[in-house]
This record gives sequence, structure tokens and C-alpha cells, in this order.
Amino acid sequence: RGQVRAGGAAARGGLVGGYKSNAELAAWARAFGSEGSACPGLGSAWMFGTSGKGEPLIALDITDPRTNETAKPVLKIVANTHGNEPAGREIGVDLAEWLCKGYAERLPEAVELLRDARVLLVPALNPDGFAARQRGNAAGADLNRDFPDQFAPAVQKMQPETLAAMRLSRNSPCVAAIAFHEGAVVANYAWDGLPSRSRRSEYSRCPDDDTQRALASAYANGHPSMASSAEFPGGITNGAKWYPLYGGNQDWEYINTGCMFITIEANEAKWPPADRLPQLAAAHRPATLALLRQALGGVTGVIVDAGTGAPIPHAEVVVRGREVARTPVSGAGGEFFRTLLPGEYRLVASARGYREAELAVSVPKPATPGDGGVAGVRFELSPTGGGEAKAVQHAEQHGQQLPQSMGAMQGAQVHAPQGGRASAYNLAGELGAEVEAAELWVEMHARTWNPHMLAAGGVLGVAALTLVAVRRRRNRRGRR
Ligand SMILES: [Zn+2]
Repeated sequence: RGQVRAGGAAARGGLVGGYKSNAELAAWARAFGSEGSACPGLGSAWMFGTSGKGEPLIALDITDPRTNETAKPVLKIVANTHGNEPAGREIGVDLAEWLCKGYAERLPEAVELLRDARVLLVPALNPDGFAARQRGNAAGADLNRDFPDQFAPAVQKMQPETLAAMRLSRNSPCVAAIAFHEGAVVANYAWDGLPSRSRRSEYSRCPDDDTQRALASAYANGHPSMASSAEFPGGITNGAKWYPLYGGNQDWEYINTGCMFITIEANEAKWPPADRLPQLAAAHRPATLALLRQALGGVTGVIVDAGTGAPIPHAEVVVRGREVARTPVSGAGGEFFRTLLPGEYRLVASARGYREAELAVSVPKPATPGDGGVAGVRFELSPTGGGEAKAVQHAEQHGQQLPQSMGAMQGAQVHAPQGGRASAYNLAGELGAEVEAAELWVEMHARTWNPHMLAAGGVLGVAALTLVAVRRRRNRRGRR
């Protein structure tokens, strides 16, 4: 049995000495990348919320500060969503310290990852559950059944940890994420739920099934034993094919931010002994790096006003045939990123008050196996009632700065349907958190079943109505 270490909040690094307490973990995150550390300036930690008992929820942003002129794709790692599944906390610590050391020693794999991306580490989403050695949070709620679900409506008051996680996702949308759980050894991908809301296991194919499978396989193949699993062919599984669950982080994140959210079951037994942590972390590190590296393949681009050239905030991009996953513009510079495998796609950019624009994009094969190929795109949107919208594709190399490469692109007119597309999705987070959450959920349903409800007033009205009218389905099974 592992020990939860109590006492002082020294910034103890490494995995020797067992599981860090919540205070030790927070102190470690705050000290990471500080002056006097092995990699000063490489990381910054902040509090993105508090748990039910007032513990800080910490996010640690790790990236090369010298390449921050433009927004970078975010690769997120979330751990300890279930309080009694703590190994991911220390796997995250190990990865961060490996990146720190690798960056300091100019190891290409670390240098390139931190040049091209931000690694956003959330080492403990459920510190109260960890302290109590229980699955749920302080209120006993299972946080991985607490997210708005496309198939199963929720009614319970959402938990503070869930709301904080959703805010973090909207403020720092990721291209790919790994969520660590325990109770098996497998890489699990969307969908977790079934449209029928059945509890019977059945493959539930999401529109990015190809992308998600590839990322899950990259992980399984990078792990010493996952891919040779006797239970899961290739070490991967579709969520609903294993067992359906509703209200999970995985499906919500993919739908609302376009993020390829892969759930990793890191160990057969929950809460592995502390002396196994170094070995466990060493097994999961190359797998994590393989997934993150491949997830950087796809489309990167900007959305600007056709008249002024100014970046358009609060725009979003969808891929034809994969519209359910909406990729929000992530930075003040109008940048967006979307993970895709090499191939031909049609992208649609839209923003309130602008005509949407569509563009054929070719994602090239990567130059190096294990990388993703990258296509660069620039959308120029015209205000509703204005002139033609324009979008162009240009060559984009990994690590090349966007504004520089945009200087050499070729312009091309593309089809722009009449009329702007209104969206009630509030990326700025101007509404109260709980109203926001309800709004998000209703919009997900509205998009599937009833598009005319997207008018903002209608969405909020329906949300209020539904919150009292529908009883929530719960699924308390096992691991993820
Ligand atoms: Zn779990």
C-alpha cells in the first residue's frame, strides 16, 4: 500500500519517497521552472479553481518561453479525477521533470515538444478524494460522471471540480489530452456513451474514430506491455465497447473543444504501492510522449477579418463530416489547431457576425515517422452582408512561426454560404459558471436534435426547464 505523506509542503521532486500529499504536490508545481530550478522559466503554475473543501486545483503550463510569440497547441494531461487512482499524479510529475531535464540538456525530443506545444499538466483534479482515499470528491460525486453529456441529460448540481475543469478547457482548449485512471491497462477513446443510452457494451463510433484510434495506438505501442494485452486487442478500446458511461470528461472535451481526449488506464490495481511508482512512470513516459508527438499533426491556422486583417476571437472551426467536434479559436491572435491524420478534409470556419468560409485542406504525411503531418491554413471571414470570404492553405513546417510563413502563401477564393452562423456557446465565460454549464449541455442537444433552439434566450430558457424536469442517469461502474 502506498503512503500518503502528510506534513510540510516542501517542494519535493522525484518519485522517491512515495505519493506526494496535496500540499507537497502544489508546492512542487509552484516551484517547477522557478529561478534556481533546473529549467528556470520553463513552467508556470496557477490555480484554476478550488475543490469542495477549498484545496487549490493546480495547472502547470510547461513550454519553451522563447517560442511564445504565437499561440501553441495545448497538450493536456489530467490525473487523479478519481481520488483513489493517484498514480497519474506521479506519472505527471515524472514527465514534467523529464521535460525539464531534457530541455536543460538539449535533448531533441524534449526541446522540440516544448518548442511546438504547451504541455498543460493538471496533476490532481480531485484532491479531496485523494485525501480521503475515495473515488468521488468531498461530496461523494464521481467527477467522471459529472460532465454534460450528449446522450444523457444531467440534473444534479455540478461539482466545483467539474466546473473548474470545464472553464480551464475553454480558456486553454487542447488538441489532445491524456487522462490517467487505474483499474486496467488500456487506452480508451470516444465515444464513451451510446445514442441509445443503453448500458449494454457496443462500439460507439465518433466521427474522429480514425484519429482517436491512431492516438490510442500510439500510446499503447509506446508502452512496454499495453499493446500485448490479452483483454484488449492492441491495448486499445472504444469506451462504449468496453462499458458505456455517461457524463465523462472524454466525450465532453472532444465535443466542446475538438480535443482528442484519450483515457489511459495506467495500472491493473488502483493505488499501486509507492515503491512501484518509478517503474510505472518510466513505462508510461514514452507512451505519453508518443501520443503527444503524433497529436501535433493536423491543421494549424488563423482566422482573421477579411477587411481589416484583425484576428477574430470567439470563432470556431469544424471539419466536414466531423462537425460534432468544434475547435474554438484559442488565442488572441485568432489561432486554431485541429488534430487530423494525413488526408483530404474540408474545414469550415465561422464566427458570429461573419459569413462562414469553407476550405479544402490536405494534411501531408509527416517527414519523420511518429510525427504528425501539418497543414497551415488562413481563413479571412467577411462580415455578414459584406464581400467574399477567403481562405487559403499554405505550407507550414513544424516549429515555424505562423506570421512568418503566412507571408509566402497563395490566395484563393472559396465558397462562402450566405448568412452568419450564430452560436450561443460563450467562449469568453461571461455567464455564471452553472448557467454556462447548463447552456453548454443544452446546446449540445440542440445541435443534434433541434437547431432552432440556438438563439441565446431560448437556450437559457430550455436549460432552466430541463434542469428541473429530467432525472439524471448514473453509472457507478469501475475504473474510468
Ligand atoms: Zn478512474
